[in-house]
Amino acid sequence: MCLHQKRACECGREEAYIFHRDSILPEEVLVHLYCPQCAALARWDIRTMVQDGGWILEYDMEAARFYLAKRLGRSQYSPEEIFDEDYCSWYGLTPKDLEASARLHEELEPLKRTDLKEYIRQVTRRRQEEVLSLKRQGWRKAART
Ligand SMILES: [Zn+2]
Repeated sequence: MCLHQKRACECGREEAYIFHRDSILPEEVLVHLYCPQCAALARWDIRTMVQDGGWILEYDMEAARFYLAKRLGRSQYSPEEIFDEDYCSWYGLTPKDLEASARLHEELEPLKRTDLKEYIRQVTRRRQEEVLSLKRQGWRKAART
């Protein structure tokens, strides 16, 4: 099972959908979340933090290593690995990807009822464009696709 939760950033202006692969890490492992507007408040520490698209995620590395070791038998994880391997990262490719894809499906809903083939073609094309644009913006998870 994979859990996702909506989490507000430190300044409260933004929210992100957070994904926990295989539910290995509890949500408390993400101690702080900074959006691009409050990222300056973070005291950057490469040992506990990872950056993506102007956002900063700060993990409780001691707790994260404990849970990862218990489930996977390996404890030497860096914050980047925790993010890149999806143990605690965005749900989708960005903090708002879930909402963006819901909006796209909603927008194309009328087409779905009239022309399913065209609907699938459009969803696929729009998604590809979106991923390319995220790649150009430097989002870590988009770069891996
Ligand atoms: Zn913020």
